[in-house]
Formats: sequence, structure tokens, C-alpha cells
Amino acid sequence: MRRTLIAGNWKMNGSFSANHTLLTGIIAGLPANDAVDVLICAPAPYLTQCAEVLGDSRVAWGGQDVSAHTHGAFTGEVSAGMLADCLCKYVIVGHSERRAYHAESSELVAQKVLQALAQNLIPVVCVGETLEQRENGATNIVVAEQLQAVLDVLSADQLINIVLAYEPVWAIGTGKTATPQMAQDVHAFLRSQLAVKNAEAANAVQILYGGSMKPENAKELLAMADIDGGLIGGAALKAMDFLAIISAC
Ligand code: PEP
Repeated sequence: MRRTLIAGNWKMNGSFSANHTLLTGIIAGLPANDAVDVLICAPAPYLTQCAEVLGDSRVAWGGQDVSAHTHGAFTGEVSAGMLADCLCKYVIVGHSERRAYHAESSELVAQKVLQALAQNLIPVVCVGETLEQRENGATNIVVAEQLQAVLDVLSADQLINIVLAYEPVWAIGTGKTATPQMAQDVHAFLRSQLAVKNAEAANAVQILYGGSMKPENAKELLAMADIDGGLIGGAALKAMDFLAIISAC
């Protein structure tokens, strides 16, 4: 039985005071039962604030990216060890904004996954197709290639330590959402790809959906058999919306 994970991706948003309001609002409104895992991926400068405010709660925090290197002359980068120092549990890897604006290849993403795992961080590996690729019928080919680069560097045993996120690029921040069936089809396909590497682990790996998930569509998406949670951008910036998605599980 897979647990549901609701993860917020704040992207490059926030300030100490706005974060405090948002984080305390989320803690105050969390449902009493702990049936859902909750994660907030904040900008790196705010991870220690997350540790301070969320430390005693059941909300985990994580980074939005990680370096493919352990240390050294990589100005501006943040290593997995540094994220672990900030008591992060997770880190997003291969978000489409990193792939598109920072030209991250799937091979680089795979190296980042290894860095995360070496520090016992759970990488949330993002894959997803552009609108053009979907219209050309290439969705499965694209996500399979993105995933394969990661599978190529992992041992069968390591598979259990990752989270996968299907995020169709055309749905991110656009207000357009994949229909539950469209998302389910890709999730099931991704799980079948994982199963080639390790059938047992494939059954246990959480696959999140991301792309304009909001309170109005969360329930339907989360009801699908292979959708194990959400990676949420815009709606994670308002405590009320984020909490409503958690409650939809
Ligand atoms: C994301 O940033 O991963 C995302 C899914 O954003 P949004 O929910 O705003 O589409």
C-alpha cells in the first residue's frame, strides 16, 4: 500500500515573513490524522527557517535542486551534503524549469539523483513532455527516455529510494491540467518502466502528478490508481489551497 505524498514546490517565491505566515498556517490546519505525507520544497536560503518552524511537525522539507558535485568550485550550487545539513528529507531533481532554463540533460539529472541518494535524501525525479511532444504522440517516448537515464545509474535496490513526479510541461503554471485518465495512463506506463528494473520496488514507488493541481481538481486526480500524490506549485503558496489539497486525499 503506497502512502500519499503532497509536496509543495515554492519555486523562487517567499520571504522570511511570508514564509512564517504560510508555514505556521499549514501546521495549524493539518488534518489530525497522519494518513498523508506532506513536504515543502523551499528556496535554499529558507531551508533552515523550514527546519526551525516545521521541526516539531510532521511536515518534511526539501530542496528544489541539488548539485551533481559533492563540493568545490561550483559557484552558486548547493550540494546534497548542504541540504542534509539543513535537515532536508527530499530534493526535487530534474524539474522541467531546470531542464528548460538551465539546459539540464537527463544524464545530469541522473548524477544529481546519485548525489541525493548518497546523502540519504529522497530525490523527487521529475519527468514530463512538452505540448508539442504530446501532440506528436511522443509522450511515452519522452518520459521513458528521461526516466531511463536515471534507471541506468541506479541499482535495482536503490529504486525503492526515489519518488517520481509526472509533470506535463504544458500543464505547469498554465492552469491547464491533464485529465485524471491522461495522467493515470502516463503514471501506469512509468510504473511499467520501473518494473523492468525491479517489479517489487515499482509497486512501492510513489508517483506524483504535477501540473496545475489545485483544490478543485485534486480529488479526481488523486483517486486514480497510480497517482500517489501531487507536486504542487502555485497552489502551495496559499495555506488554504495547500491544506485543501491535503484534505482531498
Ligand atoms: C510545479 O512547479 O512543479 C508545478 C506543478 O507547478 P503548478 O502547480 O503551478 O503548475
